[in-house]
Amino acid sequence: MKRDLYETLGVQKNADEKELKSAFRKLAMKYHPDRNPGDQEAEKSFKEINEAYETLKDPQKRAAYDRYGHAAFEHGGMGAGFGNGFAGGAGGFSDIFEDIFGEMMGGGRRRSAGGRERGADLRYNMEITLEEAFSGKTAQIRVPTSVTCDVCTGTGAKPGTSPKTCGTCQGSGRIRAAQGFFSIERTCPTCGGRGQTITDPCGKCHGQGRVMEERTLSVNIPAGIEDGTRIRLSGEGEAGLRGGPAGDLYIFLSVKPHEFYQRDGADLYCSVPISMTTAALGGKFDVTTLDGTKSRVTVPEGTQAGKQFRLKGKGMPVLRSNQTGDLYIQIQIETPQKLTKRQRELLQEFEQISSKENNPESTGFFARMKDFFDTLSD
Ligand SMILES: [Zn+2]
Ligand SMILES: [Zn+2]
Repeated sequence: MKRDLYETLGVQKNADEKELKSAFRKLAMKYHPDRNPGDQEAEKSFKEINEAYETLKDPQKRAAYDRYGHAAFEHGGMGAGFGNGFAGGAGGFSDIFEDIFGEMMGGGRRRSAGGRERGADLRYNMEITLEEAFSGKTAQIRVPTSVTCDVCTGTGAKPGTSPKTCGTCQGSGRIRAAQGFFSIERTCPTCGGRGQTITDPCGKCHGQGRVMEERTLSVNIPAGIEDGTRIRLSGEGEAGLRGGPAGDLYIFLSVKPHEFYQRDGADLYCSVPISMTTAALGGKFDVTTLDGTKSRVTVPEGTQAGKQFRLKGKGMPVLRSNQTGDLYIQIQIETPQKLTKRQRELLQEFEQISSKENNPESTGFFARMKDFFDTLSD
């Protein structure tokens, strides 16, 4: 059994428009989902409050409700004639919410005089690999969005019927009310600012003029694209309402961190650990670059940790140009661990026959450091 609408809003049966609105505002603020995240009870109350207010603020609907109760709005019942706004589900209820709070905040929807409304912009997050950013690709994405209803061609009215000019506002979508010395203009409560009412809603879209659909779009990702790039697909967002233009679709692109390569603009960096003996004796190794080919790196004898080798033109392509960045190989030297007895003996022997020339940096380092600070304090 549905709750009595007056009871839901906590007002008397003879409450006037002002009392209704003020009661609704208070309750809507209290139970708004943003203030009660995850609270299902609050969400339910919020919906009930919205439904109650939407009915009672409309003199026609209120009269029908007073006379027939909830039966007035059940399918095929007395309320069938009041279609507009009721069949809208979530759409209807967010509209009404915006009307009230849009006025309060001075915002609201972008509506034109004819009730045409631009569709919302959509955001789609896409993650690609560094290899994909390197070579570019064509991605197929599936976007759930609302598209113009094909049955009523977006008017929301049953084929053969057409929306009627709203009697309350004569199609302007706004009404003026005198309040003391002031005349206040506000959104027409009957048509919700659209200027038109639909008496016979389209069966497919229930008067919304749009239906939800999943569309597949082909998106061209150019080679060299950077993390954080935003791609705009004009007109691929949500369909407009009542002939309004569609919104845009924005693709927010992020590039996954790579296991081996770090990117800085068009240049790539790769940290390569080599053994102590390779660093000392010299050697060669191959790195696989993003184009899948191998590049040989020659390490000269006596290579120190932190040494960088540049592989020219082996970095990322520069967007919309034929330039390419470089790949930098950064050398790390791995100190041998878990030595066997024999290895230890060999290294100890090596140590004994080492000279200053073998280790110019470390030899006498602490003596030099001490001298430096002693001289300062003199
Ligand atoms: Zn339709
Ligand atoms: Zn109106």
